[in-house]
Amino acid sequence: MDFSLTMEQEILRKSVRDFAEKEIKPKARELDEREEFSYETCRAMGELGLFGMFVSEEYAGQGLDYISYIIAVEEIARIDGSHAATIAAGNSLGIGPLYYYGNEEQKRKYLPKLCSGEMLWGFGLTEPNAGSDAGNTQTQAVLDGNEWVINGSKIFITNASTDITAGVTVLARTGIREAGKKELSCILVETGTRGFEARPMHGKLMWRASNTSELYFDDCRVPEDNRLGPQGEGFHQMLGTLDGGRLSIGAMGLGGAQGCFEMARRYATQRVQFGKPIASFQVNSFKLADMAMEIELARLLLYKACWLRDNHKPYAKEAAMAKLYCSEVMYRCANHAVQLHGGYGLMKEYDVERFYRDQKLLEIGEGTSEIQRLVISRLIGVI
Ligand SMILES: Cc1cc2nc3c(=O)[nH]c(=O)nc-3n(C[C@H](O)[C@H](O)[C@H](O)COP(=O)(O)OP(=O)(O)OC[C@H]3O[C@@H](n4cnc5c(N)ncnc54)[C@H](O)[C@@H]3O)c2cc1C
Repeated sequence: MDFSLTMEQEILRKSVRDFAEKEIKPKARELDEREEFSYETCRAMGELGLFGMFVSEEYAGQGLDYISYIIAVEEIARIDGSHAATIAAGNSLGIGPLYYYGNEEQKRKYLPKLCSGEMLWGFGLTEPNAGSDAGNTQTQAVLDGNEWVINGSKIFITNASTDITAGVTVLARTGIREAGKKELSCILVETGTRGFEARPMHGKLMWRASNTSELYFDDCRVPEDNRLGPQGEGFHQMLGTLDGGRLSIGAMGLGGAQGCFEMARRYATQRVQFGKPIASFQVNSFKLADMAMEIELARLLLYKACWLRDNHKPYAKEAAMAKLYCSEVMYRCANHAVQLHGGYGLMKEYDVERFYRDQKLLEIGEGTSEIQRLVISRLIGVI
């Protein structure tokens, strides 16, 4: 068994870490406060090669393995959840479906600009009445001549209403199967298409500098050729996309937990009460020890899931486990980190406050923790 990363992966980690410390850290608190998506850092992340990381060079991607991508998300999340969300959603949810299921023409048309970070793409699965029960999609697409006519709405869609969003992949009902089940297909809708509107959502507790949108389709017409892959394959494509996406949410949990641990360790070794650093009280050093141990376990589980994916082995169970475990580790680490900071941990001047809020999404997005437990229960054959 070889637990070491390659030299290229180590170099990538260092360069993303340096970038996040230098370019994101000084701005993250203010962007969060102002609820502002930063085009400047998004462009810089593109220049660093953080979009299209697992896409082959043929389509202007970086041609890296999945573990490299996950390390990059982890390092950005160590500094800021919102920027990590832009990268994770940009790669796994925006680029992923186009790369894995798109035809040659679609890939050539969209991927180069998405892989450079000049453009973003959204993934429209969730609807007001179809969240965890994503198969209950109400949005409908009806073929009229050689055009799809789409009606319906989506909610909570990341990266879908920025000034650089080129479009979204939309899951829609395209018919009824023989057994009476819905036929679902994915359709590409470009920004600016008549009848399509993406409205930014405001007032989030977390990921406040990441773009989240509601999508509305009102007799929105797109060419029949905008279907992604075969008709009726949409739900499978979405589920496949979420398996990969879960690894990136796991990376956000791992990186966020690491950030919390480092802030907590630094503070606890410097803050003096009763004449001693608070880390010297066993109740506090044990918190730090638990954090370090759980982060180690989270990293092993997440990297193993990535290794399975990179080696073309089944990884759905490990992806669900990694997403669930890493997000819950970050929950515990953020909680300990704020506790160790005492009253200061509740103030915006201390980044642990932002990490404490950002953590919550990880237990909800891309399948809640309850749904991960359901997925794992199915995959271990008990339900
Ligand atoms: C900031 C943000 C960004 C997002 N980005 C995207 C995106 O880019 N694309 C996209 O498509 N979606 C996105 N989402 C949506 C996200 O994936 C959903 O919010 C999530 O899947 C949960 O759906 P819901 O909010 O409708 O909750 P619900 O499904 O209504 O769940 C509510 C509660 O009920 C529980 N529950 C539901 N069903 C069961 C069950 N069978 N057994 C046990 N408990 C159950 C859930 O676990 C949860 O605790 C985003 C959400 C947020 C907040």
